[in-house]
Parts: sequence; structure tokens; C-alpha cells
Amino acid sequence: MKHTHKHKRLAKTKTRNQRNALHRLNSFLNANQRKPVRLLISMWKDQQQAITYKQLREAILLGYMTEEEFTNWQDDYVAFFNTHLKPILDSATFKGGKDIAAALLQNPDLYMPMTTGIDNWITVHGAEWITQMSDEAKEAVSSMIHYTAKGHMTVDELARIIRPTIGLTEPQALANAHYYEKVKAKLMEDNPTMKETTAAKRAREAAARYAGRQHRERAQMIAETELAYAYNKGADDAIHQAQDAGLLPRMKAVWSTADDEGVCGICGALDGVAVDLGDSFEYQGKSLYGGQKQTPPAHPRCRCAICYEEAE
Ligand SMILES: [Zn+2]
Repeated sequence: MKHTHKHKRLAKTKTRNQRNALHRLNSFLNANQRKPVRLLISMWKDQQQAITYKQLREAILLGYMTEEEFTNWQDDYVAFFNTHLKPILDSATFKGGKDIAAALLQNPDLYMPMTTGIDNWITVHGAEWITQMSDEAKEAVSSMIHYTAKGHMTVDELARIIRPTIGLTEPQALANAHYYEKVKAKLMEDNPTMKETTAAKRAREAAARYAGRQHRERAQMIAETELAYAYNKGADDAIHQAQDAGLLPRMKAVWSTADDEGVCGICGALDGVAVDLGDSFEYQGKSLYGGQKQTPPAHPRCRCAICYEEAE
């Protein structure tokens, strides 16, 4: 009889170790997301307040935003990282290391992050994070500025809808602009006597509410991804440390996808794959930031964990 692999993924049952690793990661993520989400949303609110309609109108007429404004945003991300995100990532790596020491060595105090390269990881990652966030902010507002050039909206109209989208990614900002246009067109169509300024005002209010949901969604994505990254790095660091100290035999890393996520193609193929400690997993596409592939996340919102097992 021909064997079929149709239900391969579903049939793959997780070992107790894998389930425990996933449970530790998910409990950590669920308990720690709220603070970074709140802080990110509040930084973006500050950025929106800091810019005036006059500045936005000038940028639209000019066709671009001045370097000064971009520098301000970059400074915001630098300050955000150093003041808020770095301490959050520090404690996430700490917790990841302690959890793995508790699980595999029955003693969380055996993980001592100060003696390792984890500080170096945070510094390198911080620079990557700041660059990526600043680039995304630049791309988003540049696309929005070009939106008028395509004859979609007047300068004044666009200036008013750009402001609430500051802090969103380019696709999110453009989706917001499309939404505004759709709502406005529908209002005018449904209410033939309505003044255009009234329709524009109502559409703006609707688009601003939508932007609020988009900011929340993006903040959650960033918080979840950053926390998972740091937590997994801490766990990895602790395993290396324990192995170097002779507290553990030679270990291997086993990729474990979350049971509850809509596991994507990348991660589905990685489930159960084992590599030697310190080696990279192989998967399509570039990983987040610096291209490391030793630990999840493999992509934004990836809730995969590494399960460490004794190498045969
Ligand atoms: Zn994943």
C-alpha cells in the first residue's frame, strides 16, 4: 500500500519536553506583552503630536519629508530602545535562561547572564531594531506623501490623514488611506445631500479609529516578536553555559512549532528538526534582523520554541 504524507503535520505529536518548552515560552509571552504594547503606542502618539499639519503640508508640497524630521524619529527609536525595550529584553533573556536552568538543571540560579555574551547580543540587536523601525517609518510616510501625486487627494486632505498613521508600516498606512477614501465615497453615495467636508470629516474620524487598531496590532506584533526573540536567546545562552560548565551532557536543539498558531510553511517544515547546539537551522528566506537562524522567531509573531535534548 502506498504511504501518504497527507496528514504528516497533524500526526506529528509533540514530546513532553517540547510541550513544556512551548508552554514556558507562551506563558512568558502572555504575561509580558502588555507593557511593551502600551509603551510603543504611546511613543507613536507622541510622534503624531510632535508634527504639525503645516509641516505635513509642506512635506507633501515638497514631495518629501526633511531629513530633520527623520532624524527626530530615529532619535525617538534610539531613546525608546535604551529606556524601555532594552530593560524588557534584558529581563526576557534572564527569564528564558532561568526557566531553562530550572527545567533542565532543577536550579534557576545556575544561570548567570552577566558572564556571557548576552549583553553583546542586546547591543547588536538594538542597533538592528532601531535601523529597521526608522527605515519603516521613512518608507511609510514617503509612500503617503506620494499618494497625492497619483491624484488621490488634495494636499490638505492628505496632511490630515497622514498624521494618525505615523508609526504604522507602509502597507498599513496605505490601507488606512484606502479605507478613508472608501468610507468617504460611501458616505457621499448614501447621502447625496451631504457636504463633502462633512463626509471627509466623518471618514477622517473612522480612519483615525482604524489607525488606532492598526497601531495596536503592530505594537502587539513587535512586542510578541521581541519578547520571544530575547526569551529564546536567554534559554540558548543558559544551555551553552551549562554545557560549557559540564553541568549537561552534549545537547541538541529541536525546533518546536506552537500547537495553537496557524503554523506557516517555514515553521511547519522545521517542526522536530534537530541541530547541534550553536548550529543554525536551515529555512527559506531571511530571518529577522541580523540573519541569525539559531533560535526562533523565524518571522514576526513566530511562537516557536527550542526544546533542548541530550544528543545521542
Ligand atoms: Zn514559528
